[in-house]
Amino acid sequence: MIEVKNVTKKYGSFTAVDNISFNIEEGEIVGLLGPNGAGKSTTMNMITGFLEPDEGEIIIDGNSILKKPKKAKKQIGYMPEGVPLYNDLTVKEFINYMADLKMVQRNEKKENVQKVMEQTNLIEVQNKLIRNLSRGYKQRVSMAGALVGNPKILILDEPTVGLDPKQITEIRSLIKSLGKEHTVILSSHILSEISQICKKVIIINKGKIIAIDTPENLEEKVKDENAVTLTVEDKDNKIEEVTKQIKGIKELKLIKDNEDGTKDYVIISEEKIDIRKEIFEKYAKAHITIFELKKRETTLEDAFMKLIENKDEEGNK
Ligand code: ADP
Ligand code: MG
Repeated sequence: MIEVKNVTKKYGSFTAVDNISFNIEEGEIVGLLGPNGAGKSTTMNMITGFLEPDEGEIIIDGNSILKKPKKAKKQIGYMPEGVPLYNDLTVKEFINYMADLKMVQRNEKKENVQKVMEQTNLIEVQNKLIRNLSRGYKQRVSMAGALVGNPKILILDEPTVGLDPKQITEIRSLIKSLGKEHTVILSSHILSEISQICKKVIIINKGKIIAIDTPENLEEKVKDENAVTLTVEDKDNKIEEVTKQIKGIKELKLIKDNEDGTKDYVIISEEKIDIRKEIFEKYAKAHITIFELKKRETTLEDAFMKLIENKDEEGNK
């Protein structure tokens, strides 16, 4: 459905998207995940044909977005970052306007606009000016604009930014239900969001793809790591010296200096070694008081951070 092949985009001498490739199959809901500045919006703008890649090719449903832009663009509904700027239009006027832009057939327009307003729950506010709507409603208007014309592909750039928790839940379930009839790409910098909605995640950082996988597999990939979190009082600053003596230790990381004088650490050790007993014994001897000690469950958040860190290290070699 969507083929991105060796695509690079530069702003001046700065490479925002660096030789990325991926495929998206029909009917998939795919998450483009990465921190701010990773290149998500740039990538989406190239898929929608708003930006031209400096190198590489993008093919939408068999049509190159550069060589056959009209055909390719017709398949795409795009919801840009932020909210729509057409403040002086009513909701219905805006959706009609979007329908015209997308050249929805005259005889289908009325029905299509109505359907889209129903899908996005906008019927009640259809005659209100966009400027008078709450952020959550504005986001839905933007979503309706993407949906009109019934495109096969929906590209949603950070669809939940700025929404309150209730609105976030609503938008997420809307996206999920849209995924039944459309191929969806959505971007986010929030991992839990992507893993809730998407079956496939593309992790991007500094313009490069770091991993493409299911949320479950990503979690699995970093699971072998053995981590213990602990809170200690270490008046003599001996923790580093003492921890080094424990067999199988890979890393001691300071996480936080607490106001009460205690410190939070994470200790990473080799797989299948339980270091907790030894930590207790050695720390007690060194008068390091343990306030709390827990085996850490690996979360997707950890997977994300680890994947990004690993890639950064490779890049610095
Ligand atoms: P994301 O959507 O993941 O936050 P963007 O694709 O918006 O990232 O931006 C990627 C990088 O490119 C960032 O470092 C950003 O500052 C830079 N960038 C984006 N748009 C422009 C532009 N028009 N001119 C110069 N640099 C830009
Ligand atoms: Mg962005």
